[in-house]
Amino acid sequence: MPIDFQLPPDVEEIRQRVRTFMDTHVRPMEDELGEGEADRGAWISAIIELRGKARAEGLWNPHLPPEWGGMGLGPVAMAFVSAEAGRTGIGAYVINAQAPDEGNMHTLYHWGTDEQKEKYLRPLAEGMARSFFSMTEPEVAGSDPTLIQTKAVLDGDEWVINGHKWFASGARGAQFGIIIACTDEDADPPQARNSAFIVDTPTEGFEIVRDVKTMAGGLGGGHPEIRLTNVRVGRDKMLGGRGEGHRLGQYRLGPARLAHCMRWIGQAEIALEMLVDRAIKRYSHGSYLAEKQAIQWMMSESAMEIYTGKLMVLHAAYKIENKMEFRQEVSMAKVHVANALWKIIDRAIQVHGALGISTDTPLERMMRGARYARLADGADEVHMQTIARNVISTYKEHNSTRLATGDLL
Ligand SMILES: Cc1cc2nc3c(=O)[nH]c(=O)nc-3n(C[C@H](O)[C@H](O)[C@H](O)COP(=O)(O)OP(=O)(O)OC[C@H]3O[C@@H](n4cnc5c(N)ncnc54)[C@H](O)[C@@H]3O)c2cc1C
Repeated sequence: MPIDFQLPPDVEEIRQRVRTFMDTHVRPMEDELGEGEADRGAWISAIIELRGKARAEGLWNPHLPPEWGGMGLGPVAMAFVSAEAGRTGIGAYVINAQAPDEGNMHTLYHWGTDEQKEKYLRPLAEGMARSFFSMTEPEVAGSDPTLIQTKAVLDGDEWVINGHKWFASGARGAQFGIIIACTDEDADPPQARNSAFIVDTPTEGFEIVRDVKTMAGGLGGGHPEIRLTNVRVGRDKMLGGRGEGHRLGQYRLGPARLAHCMRWIGQAEIALEMLVDRAIKRYSHGSYLAEKQAIQWMMSESAMEIYTGKLMVLHAAYKIENKMEFRQEVSMAKVHVANALWKIIDRAIQVHGALGISTDTPLERMMRGARYARLADGADEVHMQTIARNVISTYKEHNSTRLATGDLL
């Protein structure tokens, strides 16, 4: 069967509509508010105003089906929407597809009971609530969820949760969170130790200890450290089955990781465009920077990294959409794009010289915002470990590594 790289007309139409919307409404608003100049209130007002316009144009909840007020897009179309939104700072918020709410909506839609969907998914889909997802703990390696120390113990008809978490992105001001806690310490396999709970916030025993400040800054509710002391929730607040916390997290992370990758690709494109724009205008030692081989190589490497990143993300999205095994491809795409983003922004800063280090362009903010990509959504080394494990086992089984390298040719 020939490979068809043409986008289906409906996906192309959506991509163009999102691109036009971002160019016509979102970028001008960002330019007006200025790089880091406006206060948080001004940004929130801007997002509210732009959300009204986005909804009026049918650009709302791209990841949800129409019965939840969404556009009903699959992973491939979502990849394009995320890339277009990722070319702006607030685009994802404007179409209600911002992390972690997007992943939480996805999780609630697939794992929630009818009551849970009505109570928690509905307000998120309406853009009337914010949420968080809390798994990581300061005391144990977040890379290994079997170590989670937060405990949930059944007491009559209620679960009692005790624990200490951090990097609960968006927890301050959120209406609820999805919290992963250990319910079965001796479960075999250890991945079945954890379960997910929906916790309304604020609630008795739930404390935001502090906002963990990061190099990235940004909108949303920060990345708080939280403590749960005898937080009680009803049995009906368990999301998914008992022991399914790990599976739920993995299920959530496939599409969520790809959405991140595409936003990162959008950012990388902006950085490359800035690099080229500077290079064709800046004159030094008898020619423009764009005419020097050293600078051209930076452009070429960036172009190749963006191109391979797009192909990897689209192939992984295709696999998810067609219900094929996708974890190897998502891991490879995540590591590749996170590193490409970092390198491309770094090159753009280099070509801008002192200006690149200044706060006069978005590049320094983009670089601060990009660093987390290599350790969140699964640290690179953990993905690489999984990738290598698959390469070895595939080779042992088939005397070939083909199945572990995209299974393409
Ligand atoms: C901006 C940001 C937002 C986040 N938002 C959330 C959120 O909303 N909810 C949430 O639950 N968490 C969130 N996190 C946390 C994130 O998921 C964790 O940082 C991540 O899982 C890694 O866990 P850790 O920080 O405990 O690092 P550790 O697990 O301690 O790992 C530290 C380093 O050790 C190395 N390492 C770990 N395991 C291996 C291995 N097997 N082989 C080789 N090297 C290894 C890697 O280099 C890794 O970076 C966020 C993090 C950031 C930076």
